[in-house]
Formats: sequence, C-alpha cells, structure tokens
Amino acid sequence: MKKLRRFRQHLSSKIALVFILSMMAIFLLHMFTTRALFGPKRFPAMIRVGIDHAQTMANSIGIPPDLELARELHQRLGIQIRIESEKVSWVSNIDMIRFDDVKLEAVPRLEGTSAGFTPHGFCIGIERQDTRFLFVLHPKDENIRKVGYSFILILLFYTGLVLVFLYLIIKWLLRDIKVLDQGMQQISSGNLDHRMSSGRRDELGQLVHSFNTMTEKIQEMIRIREQLLLDVSHELRSPLTRIRLALEFMEEGESKKTVLEDVNELEAMIGELLEVERLRSAHGGLRLEKHDIRRLVEETCTGFKGRSPGIILRLPSDEVRIPIDPDRFKTALRNLLDNALRYSPAEGRPVEIGSEELKDEIVIRVKDYGSGIPAEEIPHIFEPFYRVDKSRSKKTGGYGLGLNMVHKIVSAHGGRMEVQSVPGQGSTIAMRLPRLD
Ligand code: ADP
Repeated sequence: MKKLRRFRQHLSSKIALVFILSMMAIFLLHMFTTRALFGPKRFPAMIRVGIDHAQTMANSIGIPPDLELARELHQRLGIQIRIESEKVSWVSNIDMIRFDDVKLEAVPRLEGTSAGFTPHGFCIGIERQDTRFLFVLHPKDENIRKVGYSFILILLFYTGLVLVFLYLIIKWLLRDIKVLDQGMQQISSGNLDHRMSSGRRDELGQLVHSFNTMTEKIQEMIRIREQLLLDVSHELRSPLTRIRLALEFMEEGESKKTVLEDVNELEAMIGELLEVERLRSAHGGLRLEKHDIRRLVEETCTGFKGRSPGIILRLPSDEVRIPIDPDRFKTALRNLLDNALRYSPAEGRPVEIGSEELKDEIVIRVKDYGSGIPAEEIPHIFEPFYRVDKSRSKKTGGYGLGLNMVHKIVSAHGGRMEVQSVPGQGSTIAMRLPRLD
C-alpha cells in the first residue's frame, strides 16, 4: 500500500500511467478502425460472389451428392463442406462446425439459401430437397479478420515502441526536476553552500539558475545579519568595560550588585557571540585531533553531577575515535545537556546520551523526557536569540544562543543537527558528525 502511494507520488510514474492509458486508447481505436475497415459489411460484392459460388458447387455436387467431387473441391479450393441428408452424412474436416452451431440469415430472393459471418469464417447454407449443404468459404485460418488482427498487433507493437521511446525522452527532459528536488532538500536542511548545476538553457535550466541566485541572496542576507550582530557585540565591549570600571568606584550595595550581574550576563552573551564568529572563519579555527568520543562525553557529564533528573550514558563498549575539536565538542554537548536537564521535570526520567556508529557518521543523541518543542518552533531553535518562551525570563533559560552555537560547532566539523520532539513527551537532539578517516 505504502509502495503504491509512493509510486503514485512520482512524476515519472504519472507519465508512465498516461502512456499506458494512451496505449490502451490507441488499442481500442485500432480495434474499431479495423472492424470498420475489414468488417463483413464492407465486402458486399465478395459476399454475393461467395453465395453464387456456393450455389454452383451445390448444383455440381448434386443429389445424390457426388462425394468425390466434394472432396476434390475441398482439397483444391481449401474450403470446408458438410453434406447431410437422410442417407448421407459427410464432412470434409472432422472438426468442422455442425448446422446447429451457426446461425445464418436467409438470403433474400434465394430460396433455401442462408449466409453469415461467424467466428469460424464466412458460412453459406443451401437446402436442396432433403439434402443440406454447408460451405465455410474462409475457414478461420484464412479469415480476412485475422489479417485485421495481425494488422492491429503490428501497429500496437510499433506504437508501443514509439511510446516507450517518447517516455524515455520525456524522462530525460525532466531529469533536472530531480536535481532541483535534491538541491532544495540540501538547502532546506541548512546547507546554503549547495549549488545546483544544470547545463541546459531551457525553462528548467533557468529555474535551476534562479534557485541558485535565490540561495546566494539568502546567504548574503544571513551573512549581513550575522555581521551586524557581531559588529554590535564588538561595539558593546568597550562601553561594557567602561561600565565595569565605573562600577569599581561605586559604593557597595544592592544596586551595584544588580548592575554587576547584568554586566556579567552581557559579557557572557558577547563572549558566546564572538565564539560563534570564530567558528565561522575558515573551518571554524578548529583544532582537529583524533579523540575517543566516549571519553569526551564522560568528561562533559562530570560537570553535571548532582543536577536532577540525572543523566544515563548508553555508550558503546569500544573506543569511537573521530577527528574532533575536543573543547568545541564539549561546549556543544554541554549546551545540549544543559537544555535537556533544564527542560525536564526534576522528578522525571533521566536524560539519556546514546551514540550510533554509521558508515560515514557518528551520531550522538541527547534524549530527554521533558517539555518537548512544538513542531512549528523546531525550524527556528538554531537561530541566534530564538527562544520558545518569548518572555525571556532568566528562570526559563538563557538568551537563545546555546543551540545556535551547537549548530555552528557541528557545521564547522562538517556535520549536521537533527531534532525530534513531541510536546509533553520530550525531545531528542542529535549531532551527526562525519568520520573522515
Ligand atoms: P536557551 O539558552 O534559551 O536554552 P537555546 O538556543 O539553547 O537557548 O535553545 C533555544 C530554545 O529551544 C529554548 O528557548 C527552548 O525553548 C528550546 N529548547 C532547546 N532544547 C530544548 C529541550 N531539550 N527541550 C525543550 N525545549 C528546548
């Protein structure tokens, strides 16, 4: 059922269906045309000659029938003959039809003569006194209709051949749709560096080109936004230092404490933003060394000792070594764990850290049984300053920079993030890192 649905979704299967329906339509049209062209009513002169000829034969065979002549006519002309009377019962072929098997129409103005086209051929019945003759003039094998059907088959074969050829051409013409689809998947998964290539100059080639231009524009817009954020962060550093200096001369008290807290928070935020900036530079200024991921995970977890609802490690027993910047990796995992613990109820199920080794990737998953993230928020959670709880209350989280930093760290390693979440049940956030041996 699922396969059928997937088959129906493909453009190529729809085209194939159109071709199969066209083929059936052509088949039916051929049938009707052939019937119209080669049908019995199209040959009145032939029918008249046939009846006349049968009568002559019946006369020659005579009564009592000259069976020798009948046999000779059968052999010479390739027709079938049946003769029946009270005394004689003779057939040219054992398998020849009987009188009762065919329904023939009486021929006007010719007494005792009937004729008709049957599936066995053109039949003529003649009654003379007590003797009945049945002639099959075009026995089935030589039936003109058979020629018609062969004609249909040959036509069908060639039409089928042409349709298959046309199908392949159309598929070839539409091949860029696949390029577009793959490209859009790459771009929507966050790989804005991806460019689609098409060597064509038609509308589809133009569409590919327009998509590339659009991606470039979006990339530029994002770059400008990030640059603005960083410029502002840089600019804020000096006034913040001046405020901190001025605070030194302030009298100790509640207001000095609050301002100092705010200054610390602002400095931490700016520190994170500038860290993200460093990650953006060529390969993120990463210090890649081969490390055992399990050890890095364990080391990071020690910093969360005592935080409820706790952490459970589900790591492989063997070493998992990949080229990685250990400090950056720990920062990323720390952010994920901090969120997972923060958004889980203190008495709930502990957070789980698992890993999976694939051919080209190592997947590290942080799974919690906390509040979960609404589906419409998921595409935005990696954006800087994005928070699901818009109140920006310090009680419910940080400034919305944590996941942005995780994303930047994982991207700088050539990896990608994956989020699965059900509100009220929990979230699984995965870092997929390339193995790059
Ligand atoms: P914050 O510093 O506010 O936690 P993050 O960038 O780390 O910012 O996360 C962005 C938003 O994503 C958070 O405000 C939170 O609403 C949501 N979020 C992140 N991780 C989880 C999680 N494990 N469970 C529920 N919500 C989460």
